[in-house]
Amino acid sequence: MKDIQDIKIGLIGGGQLGKMILSEANRMNLKTLVLDSNKNSPCKNLCNNFYIGKLDNYNDILKFGKRCDIITFEIEHINIDALLKLEHIGKKVYPKPHTLSIVQDKSKQKKFYNENNLPTSKYSYYKNLNDLFLNIKNGIIQFPSVWKKTKLGYDGFGVKVLRSEKDTLDLPDCEMIIEEFVPFKKELAVIVARNFNGEIKTYETVEMEFNSFSNQVEYVISPSKISEELNKKAINIAIEATKKLDVIGLLAVEMFLTDEDNIVINEVAPRPHNSGHFTIEACPTSQFEQHLRSILNLDLGNTNHDGCAIMLNLVGGEGFEGNVRYENLNEIFSEENTHLHIYGKEKTRPNRKMGHITIICDKFDDAYKKAKSLKEKIKVKAI
Ligand code: ADP
Repeated sequence: MKDIQDIKIGLIGGGQLGKMILSEANRMNLKTLVLDSNKNSPCKNLCNNFYIGKLDNYNDILKFGKRCDIITFEIEHINIDALLKLEHIGKKVYPKPHTLSIVQDKSKQKKFYNENNLPTSKYSYYKNLNDLFLNIKNGIIQFPSVWKKTKLGYDGFGVKVLRSEKDTLDLPDCEMIIEEFVPFKKELAVIVARNFNGEIKTYETVEMEFNSFSNQVEYVISPSKISEELNKKAINIAIEATKKLDVIGLLAVEMFLTDEDNIVINEVAPRPHNSGHFTIEACPTSQFEQHLRSILNLDLGNTNHDGCAIMLNLVGGEGFEGNVRYENLNEIFSEENTHLHIYGKEKTRPNRKMGHITIICDKFDDAYKKAKSLKEKIKVKAI
């Protein structure tokens, strides 16, 4: 294998996840190339070479990939045919295009879980709205249930809980799945890393608290306040999913802990994930360094986490759109063991992820109190 200093790492997507990967890559002086459609993306000044291109465009991805030795990504919505072509001509694409092609499509993802005995909620697939309405008429769809666009959804955009037939009236006409509504106690996540040699390491199971208005993750708490038995069960499911999807790199596995104490997979993401940002300060090896180690087929690092960490997302405030202005950021620095991350996006819009804060504490209650109080003080507005 080439020495890591001689490998050109290509990163598709130049957003905040890319920025945090680059911060680890830069610490080790690795060579990095980034492709994004936005010339002002957070990664633009942090890599050796920055290229502009469309991530869903075959030629843009192919041209970019040919410049690199290893190609990875920080976003799922990428032209798969181009990634397959790059793999075919001998480039290393990690996670593999085959893995990504399953994850990109929620209907393929659910089918994969069923075929591979991975626990998940029941679902059905509909090719368009007419198909859906026909099945509602036939009494096949029960309420409540959950509507999901099969492709291009993110951060809850493309998901809707259907409480009655009335909720279907403003759905867009596209391919979709309808999932059984899962009554759950908690939403959990486990991040798994796997390298080419098959070495596997996982982080602790975390729990995610959602904002009830936007339905987006507001706080990530590590470790999750669940029994050791449930923690082990969640980790085992995540490892099984990683092996079965043949992931090289990271896999973030989002799960529900149901009211009956079962654990079922909601969805997975083959990349660093919001639920692992706390690892930057809380663990000897962050998820971003671990991602690089995995795709470079290096030994994986220590993922231990003692104590408690809470990550709080800073998202664009309701009613603000335009050039971003943060309020009361200075407040963070009077708190001990509290770390600020601002992603460097020029423009805000409601609920856009603009940054995060990680609080490291011995006791959960102290960290939670601090997180709530910072959430009240810090506002993301527009000029
Ligand atoms: P996205 O890919 O946009 O993040 P998810 O599939 O994770 O979308 O769904 C967003 C949120 O919707 C979940 O975090 C959960 O709170 C809720 N949700 C999704 N699927 C179900 C389900 N089957 N039952 C109950 N709630 C669900």
